[in-house]
Amino acid sequence: MIVEPDLERRLARNPRRAAYYCGAVSSLAAALAARGVALIVRRGTLRAEALRLARESRAATIGWSAAYDAATIANDRDLQAAFEEAGLRVALAHDAPAIAPDETAAVRAHDDGTGYRAFTPYLTAWRSRTRATYGANVRYALVALDSNPLPSPDTFGAEALADADVPSEAKTLSAFDAYLAGPALAYRTARSVPAEAATARLSAALSFGIVSARTLLARIDARYADRFLLAEERASLAALTRALAQRDFFLQLGWFYETSPDLVLQTRMRAFAFARSHPALEAWRFGRTGFPFVDAGMRQLRATGWMHPRARLVAASFLCYDLGVDWRVGRDAWDDLLVEDEPALATGNWQWTAGVGADLAQYPRIFNPRKQARWFDPAGTYVRRWIPELANLPGAAVLDPAASIARPQLALPLFDGAAYAAPVVDHEATARAFLARYAVFTRPRDERR
Ligand SMILES: Cc1cc2nc3c(=O)[nH]c(=O)nc-3n(C[C@H](O)[C@H](O)[C@H](O)COP(=O)(O)OP(=O)(O)OC[C@H]3O[C@@H](n4cnc5c(N)ncnc54)[C@H](O)[C@@H]3O)c2cc1C
Repeated sequence: MIVEPDLERRLARNPRRAAYYCGAVSSLAAALAARGVALIVRRGTLRAEALRLARESRAATIGWSAAYDAATIANDRDLQAAFEEAGLRVALAHDAPAIAPDETAAVRAHDDGTGYRAFTPYLTAWRSRTRATYGANVRYALVALDSNPLPSPDTFGAEALADADVPSEAKTLSAFDAYLAGPALAYRTARSVPAEAATARLSAALSFGIVSARTLLARIDARYADRFLLAEERASLAALTRALAQRDFFLQLGWFYETSPDLVLQTRMRAFAFARSHPALEAWRFGRTGFPFVDAGMRQLRATGWMHPRARLVAASFLCYDLGVDWRVGRDAWDDLLVEDEPALATGNWQWTAGVGADLAQYPRIFNPRKQARWFDPAGTYVRRWIPELANLPGAAVLDPAASIARPQLALPLFDGAAYAAPVVDHEATARAFLARYAVFTRPRDERR
């Protein structure tokens, strides 16, 4: 493996991710050592070091797993050209998705060499393909090459993970089996109810290649074959399969359409002017907007490096529509905090939420953060867990503290609600103002005057 300067800089910005990465590399080294193979580590620019390694090991073919974000795809193309110029064969595998982008693209009736921009037809194509396996193609050779030490967390200003938290394939698969035995059977609810903390928690392991999506899907299929499952439990397993298909969908979107990490997919929305900033941007970043569901999500992310998927939707919608701030600002802010490292999924999901990406919804998906809290955190458990200032507010008062604190019986020091921020915007007014601006922008040009 080559630790290149770009990667080092990226990891140094996010110590929690750096610690996870170093843990993943140490597990890989241990797994290889168990097969009698050493992991060779080099530091330097990718192109120069990769060519040097190929020469030293007298390799005839170089293989690696494809990437799905614009920057890495461009690097991969450079590298491929450099290897081919040097007379080496390149074998690029689509190892991250369960179904390779070319496989689904080939299903289209009029295949023009591009992929899908809408999830529903993609899912039909995805379901019709058989999942390949690559493992059998790998043979290990014994070559004695110099190696640098494994990357260590302190290089990135990070602390090493406790042994129990060091990720490995064996641990992830055993956790996933336990998940499939019970919690996965209620996944449909878990996906929307953040207090339950019962989604699969796979994003970091998948993004660092600790487990393969194909292995996970094979285990879900095996569980699905249990004849004693109830209809609702089957529906949950189907939803989990669909979530992994959604991952493949965004990866293929990156593969076929992402020419730059910042390019908006929908041509008609490229000129839509989101703001780059807002007086409440810092409040959003630090979970102090005065909207508890948004703030709980942002604080969970800051504290753990992960945010529940429902909270992601609501917090991202709040940034784009209530504050009118560009999705790229939000994506980059989360990138500094999330442990998972999958830029194609970050860009795809942020564009989708902001209504400029793969989703062709007629209206922007503006979530009402108070209603979302009432529907998906009715007892306020999630909000209380992440916002200590609100921990003592009783019952559903916690979901709309500004309104509740105004009530005299709750305006007691005991509840300490005053320490919590007042709402930074009037949601109803800002949502309607955004819709008005959006309607004018999307109206045919000659009707705008
Ligand atoms: C604004 C926004 C930004 C996001 N940014 C990222 C990101 O940077 N990296 C990332 O991996 N996911 C991202 N997601 C997708 C999703 O929220 C996370 O994958 C999920 O929260 C991870 O937790 P989990 O493994 O418990 O998910 P589960 O719900 O248990 O799903 C299992 C797996 O399915 C896949 N999956 C589920 N939902 C999606 C989805 N919407 N898109 C693509 N794959 C999905 C993931 O690989 C996930 O690990 C984002 C979603 C939104 C709305």
